[in-house]
Amino acid sequence: MTERIAACHCGEINLTVRGNPEHVSMCHCLHCQRRTGSAFSVQGYFSKSQVTIKGSPKRYSRKGDSGRGVDFHFCPNCGSTSYWDVEPWPDKMGIPLGTFADPSFVQSPNVSIFVTHCHPWVVIPEGPRTEGHSKKFNEDAERALAELRKG
Ligand SMILES: [Zn+2]
Ligand SMILES: [Zn+2]
Repeated sequence: MTERIAACHCGEINLTVRGNPEHVSMCHCLHCQRRTGSAFSVQGYFSKSQVTIKGSPKRYSRKGDSGRGVDFHFCPNCGSTSYWDVEPWPDKMGIPLGTFADPSFVQSPNVSIFVTHCHPWVVIPEGPRTEGHSKKFNEDAERALAELRKG
């Protein structure tokens, strides 16, 4: 089984990740833009059982635009986001793809969310997309994920 290391900028927080993500999403929401300092975020969702965490991250919690809670775990030394937990999926965690620093990580995003906030120059990859507003967002996201899980 493929084993990868996801690390923060300074290396204090290390995640050993076994196997591939269940899905990879690209998020254009304004929170992700502020958090990353970039135009969008890209993350893999893994089962918690696939991941071993080394180090002591700090936590920042907020409500997502979807109205659901998200707990972000970040390095207190360098500030990189290492991973997060989302309320509706207690057994899953999101890991920013960039923390693998592995351009050979070939799985491209297969879900795009909050595309209403997409910068006009960004090319959205193929796959389901949601505009990303409250109830409609939740319904669209659940439908998109159900499709993906079916394979
Ligand atoms: Zn760090
Ligand atoms: Zn987002």
